[in-house]
Amino acid sequence: MAPNQVDNLSAVLYKKDDLRMEQRPIPTPGPQQLLVKIHTVGICGSDVHYLTHGAIGSFIVKAPLVLGHETAGVVEEVGDQVKGFSVGDRVALEPGVPCRRCYHCKLGTYNLCPDMGFFATPPFDGSLTRFVVHDADFCFKLPDHVTFEEGALLEPLSVGVHTVRRAGVKIGQKALILGSGPIGILTLLVSKAAGASAVVITDIDDGRLAMAKELGADYTINVRGKSIQQVKDEITACLGQPPHVSMECTGVATSVETAILTTLSGGTIVLVGLGADRADLPMVEAAIREVDIRGVFRYANCYPTAIELVASKKVDLSKLTRAHYTLEETPEAFKRAQKADVIKVFINCEKKD
Ligand code: NAD
Ligand code: ZN
Repeated sequence: MAPNQVDNLSAVLYKKDDLRMEQRPIPTPGPQQLLVKIHTVGICGSDVHYLTHGAIGSFIVKAPLVLGHETAGVVEEVGDQVKGFSVGDRVALEPGVPCRRCYHCKLGTYNLCPDMGFFATPPFDGSLTRFVVHDADFCFKLPDHVTFEEGALLEPLSVGVHTVRRAGVKIGQKALILGSGPIGILTLLVSKAAGASAVVITDIDDGRLAMAKELGADYTINVRGKSIQQVKDEITACLGQPPHVSMECTGVATSVETAILTTLSGGTIVLVGLGADRADLPMVEAAIREVDIRGVFRYANCYPTAIELVASKKVDLSKLTRAHYTLEETPEAFKRAQKADVIKVFINCEKKD
């Protein structure tokens, strides 16, 4: 570490609506860790939710918390026992490090590990800072032609990869995606890469739907003011049949109900959106038509696939609309993220001389 690098400006959330830019000590990597100089962090809806609510469900901000978890940067220092990384490597950081010892970790479904430490999920600090340390086996080298912004986008893209895997999207199948937020749109891109022959996507915002169309949605439906039956009929008319799979990316109960009523008998619904804890849903309909309802929680073993999709251009992230801020401008960046006029707001964390 060069002696002049003492700046570790960090975006720290103290409590609801109390975000402060302050200095933190630069951490020292452990034997199996890398010190990473952060280049780009994308803002996610969950970062915004912590800022505006001070909590997500049972995760409550009780102590100052560095926000940010969609991260790409450059290796600055390599822990003693780390193999395969060198200073200067460009890397993306998978934000959740599990225990590696429990039942789920041994099975490979480490996203379900009860002892997961995940960036910007209390009590674990995130990456909206100049330097972080991270376990090397959760750092992924970026091919030269993959940008830092694409590296940061690997995080929500991994949610899309896991969603498509859990839905079991197969070549030639027709898919329904509910919600055209970043997660719905990235799920759209992965579904097409996985071979879905037609994808219909819903939202209540025409701007979001226009973005989805631009990015390759075959059909878009604005569901605002429509009955579930009307939406079901429109989806079926667009696809010429009910969808084989539905990927729910809103968390809104009526949208989950649309998925249950619309999905082809024997098909699959995955619940990505996280809304109200409880909902009144037509469960017998799902039971008697054998519509499987599956959960999605983040991802496991998806970063390598996401990198391959981007590096091979099977998934083209270049058309995602975006806005840019510096680390110092983090408060403004969070205001912009709440406007939802672009798919992703990026923060550049490099120190400007
Ligand atoms: P977002 O809020 O940006 O997008 C949600 C979209 O749904 C918006 O465009 C909104 O206009 C639209 N919408 C609202 N009501 C609708 C309705 N009735 N029908 C259709 N569309 C409707 O959020 P995001 O970042 O894209 O994330 C989507 C959801 O996925 C959120 O609930 C988020 O919490 C959840 N999420 C879950 C996981 C997981 O691991 N399960 C991971 C990431 C995000
Ligand atoms: Zn574990």
